[in-house]
Amino acid sequence: MVKAEGVHKRFGSVEVLKGISMEVARGEVVCLLGASGSGKSTFLRCINHLEKIDAGRLLVDGELVGYRQIGERLHELHDRDICRHRAEVGMVFQRFNLFGHMTALENIIEAPMLVRKMPKAQATERARELLARVGLADRGSAYPNQLSGGQQQRVAIARALAMSPKLMLFDEPTSALDPELVGEVLDVMKSLARDGMTMVVVTHEMGFAREVADRVVMMHQGKIIESAPPEQFFGAPQHERTRQFLSKIL
Ligand code: ATP
Ligand code: MG
Repeated sequence: MVKAEGVHKRFGSVEVLKGISMEVARGEVVCLLGASGSGKSTFLRCINHLEKIDAGRLLVDGELVGYRQIGERLHELHDRDICRHRAEVGMVFQRFNLFGHMTALENIIEAPMLVRKMPKAQATERARELLARVGLADRGSAYPNQLSGGQQQRVAIARALAMSPKLMLFDEPTSALDPELVGEVLDVMKSLARDGMTMVVVTHEMGFAREVADRVVMMHQGKIIESAPPEQFFGAPQHERTRQFLSKIL
């Protein structure tokens, strides 16, 4: 579902991604770990067309991200095509970025109506199903400031799911939450994983990674230094940096 081959990204003179190669198969859950500044968010943002890569190849579901290949040449994609691609990837950020002036339900129906031209009645019906799925069946008419952080984050997940994405990207979805609210968001993510959603999750929740990930990937200074199933990753980390990282976080 995701294929990265030697992906490079620089900001000015700083190279933030130094040749990332990895694959995420359909239905797979990959957890991305690494110290602050190692490039985790940048990599997710590249997958979702929020940043353009400078070298290498990045494919989502077999389609190049950001570029179209004609013969041997790569051409930058038009905005219209970028929007179409981005609509197929759901992203949930650390900060619940719901629209504050819209209810939970309105937040969820917005994109399907605008981008997919879904009729309001249909979008609303689907939004109600999704609210139920994230355990908020009775909160559709609440505004974000009337919801707890955990509830807002679950609405954000429902909103992403409303576009029926092929792939879900999570960038530290629980790190801005009070500890007692973390579990309810992780539970929703676990149920998504069980239903076969392809997911790339940047997280510091090692319990989640251990339990849910098919593979855990460690980034360090813009490179992947280790990638293994959780038992192996946590049980017998190969790289010294991974051991240091785990000793600090566990
Ligand atoms: P964290 O755990 O703190 O979220 P991260 O692994 O997600 O870290 P990134 O946010 O990807 O790291 O940042 C990697 C590096 O790229 C950092 O040094 C950061 O300062 C730099 N960087 C990120 N975005 C930009 C930008 N738009 N312009 C300039 N530098 C940037
Ligand atoms: Mg980050």
